[in-house]
Amino acid sequence: MHLGFRGLRGGIFILFLLLFGASCQNFSTQVFGSNKQDSLSIIDDMEHVLKHEPLLLDKWDSLRRNQLIFTVDTINPISINNQKRKLKDSLRREFNKHPKHVFLTFDDGPLVGSFAIDSLAKAKNVKVSAFLVGRHENMGNARKRDVQRYKANPLVACYNHSYTHGYNKFANFYSDVKASYDDFVKNENVLDLKHKIARLPGRNIWIYDDVRVIDLKSGAKTADTLFTNGYKIYGWDVEWRINSVTGVPVQPLVQTVNKMRNFMNNKSSQTPNNVVLLMHDDMFQTKNGRKLLANLIDSLKKENYKFEFMEDYPIKY
Ligand SMILES: [Zn+2]
Repeated sequence: MHLGFRGLRGGIFILFLLLFGASCQNFSTQVFGSNKQDSLSIIDDMEHVLKHEPLLLDKWDSLRRNQLIFTVDTINPISINNQKRKLKDSLRREFNKHPKHVFLTFDDGPLVGSFAIDSLAKAKNVKVSAFLVGRHENMGNARKRDVQRYKANPLVACYNHSYTHGYNKFANFYSDVKASYDDFVKNENVLDLKHKIARLPGRNIWIYDDVRVIDLKSGAKTADTLFTNGYKIYGWDVEWRINSVTGVPVQPLVQTVNKMRNFMNNKSSQTPNNVVLLMHDDMFQTKNGRKLLANLIDSLKKENYKFEFMEDYPIKY
């Protein structure tokens, strides 16, 4: 490993190796190639590194996972935490130059309310993601038509939310890993789903690429089994609830949009510039609920967010 500390004079440099990752070799050579280590030159060098690393999100990941090398100049000491903070700020500024992405996800359809989601996706020309429950399709011809409309709409992506939804008894559902896994397979077959993208009922679990985030242990084994069998499992970042009967929002629209914006810009988020919003199809069965969804989409458009399908998560630069 050649670190290339050329021209170092007047300081003893201590190398801190924090779980050295292959992708960060540039970082050490570029950032600390100068013997003038005031905060300004470090930021300049970071900007240089940013241009040479292939993916911004990979750099962000390396930082979050402590996989970067930092050095300390004992004459002009800058703490590692300070350096990390400066790098994070610097990365955040880079992310701000890129588009930001929202993933509108609707669970438990087909239900009364699915029709409104389908229509609004078309009217507003935005992509939405539907996590479907096959058992609901058998509750009548109207629900069958909901699924047909979703599938015929190129702005709606249909994904797997299990066939039975565990009959809402989640601990019991996940206690039998094979049965719960089979329930997802059944859903895939019954609904003829094209993507191996799933969300677990009652659980905010993420398993994709090398990410594995578990909220409740019950369900983790089912999620792992799905992942082993080619599925990506996605949870959510922000949830919005509207009383399905009255159409009164549990969280005001403005608060939800603010939360999404804050999450998007969060300096410690797992995936900067990407926010997954969870909603449920039955929230949009009243006129008021439908109006709120239209307003939400308009508000997000005003922020210049791009609307994405869950299968494309996360959008990387
Ligand atoms: Zn659900």
